[in-house]
Amino acid sequence: MPEEVLVQAASEMLDWPDANGKRCGMGVMEMSHRGKEFTSICAHAESTLRSLLAVPAHFKILFMQGGGLAENAIVPMNLNALRAQPGQRGQTDFVVTGSWSQKSLQEAGKYSDTHLAASSQASGFTDIPDPASWEIRQGASYVHICSNETIHGVEFQALPDLKALGSDAALVVDFSSQVASRPVEWSRIGLAFGGAQKNLGPAGLTLVVVREDLLGHAMAICPSAFNYQTVAANGSMYNTPPTYAIYMAGLVFDWLQRQGGIAAMEVQNISKARALYQAIDSSGLYSNPVAAHCRSRMNVPFFLRTEALNDAFLSGAAAAGLLQLKGHKSVGGMRTSLYNAMPLTGVQALVAYMQEFERRHA
Ligand code: PMP
Repeated sequence: MPEEVLVQAASEMLDWPDANGKRCGMGVMEMSHRGKEFTSICAHAESTLRSLLAVPAHFKILFMQGGGLAENAIVPMNLNALRAQPGQRGQTDFVVTGSWSQKSLQEAGKYSDTHLAASSQASGFTDIPDPASWEIRQGASYVHICSNETIHGVEFQALPDLKALGSDAALVVDFSSQVASRPVEWSRIGLAFGGAQKNLGPAGLTLVVVREDLLGHAMAICPSAFNYQTVAANGSMYNTPPTYAIYMAGLVFDWLQRQGGIAAMEVQNISKARALYQAIDSSGLYSNPVAAHCRSRMNVPFFLRTEALNDAFLSGAAAAGLLQLKGHKSVGGMRTSLYNAMPLTGVQALVAYMQEFERRHA
């Protein structure tokens, strides 16, 4: 979270001021979600996000709950039947480039006829298979990708153009850890979803952006609160939305605009990632296994030459105020997350620490 946003939220916690600075006598957590105060907060968050991400008018922005993992079920329940014959399970195709897309494939199997169109498992999820080699079925309703694999540090630098690959399927993108870090190629997307807790705000809010023509195809068993058409028709207020998380995300969107928007964030994110990869590649102690063309700007996993140094690295880092560097338990090593709120100076401090640690352990 940007510190500026936390300071603002703290100052507004007991008594929220409207856009003119007029206090309303209650905090955001105490408001009715249908009252005029919260309605204005939600509408402001949505319109600021639409303008920041340049979301075209024929896409709906939905504020939901359940996180990325719930969407792994909600997406197939809503979209698998797009191109299915009556009475048949729809076909859903997956490109697996790491743990998160793997989980999506597994979950969708409960609701649809899944198929692995491509996988980089053989490389240990250090690469993205060339889209020209993907085996997309002609009847597939959608193709799912994870545009940034948060654990393996593998990122699509451009979204695949399914039309150019000869497919009419909709592209579904899990952009949980990529959203708001760079511009989005909406013309290639049918639906994108992401948990808010990386670049958008606190956990509890899930963003779904869906092309209007994909609404209205949900399975009969789909819970009403998870039916995109119902959520859209009710302006994300079919049930009580995560009001405080939406408010906080709105403050983050305002902050992003003050930074110069997504284009400015992308420039900064490129600088941060470059500084860290350069430090890793020029060292004899650290390494990153991901192919250069798909290295993530947001999550940079790296490994020390010997595992035996991991504890010393982490405790020295913590003593220097550099926190949360331990790699995900499934891959080990270290992982640095360079989300929007992390300034370049934070990366520079990490690089200085890494270099000093390497000198000490040469
Ligand atoms: N997809 C991606 C790319 C993620 O990084 C995560 C969480 N780290 C998830 C899905 C799961 O999200 P949640 O915990 O919000 O369900």
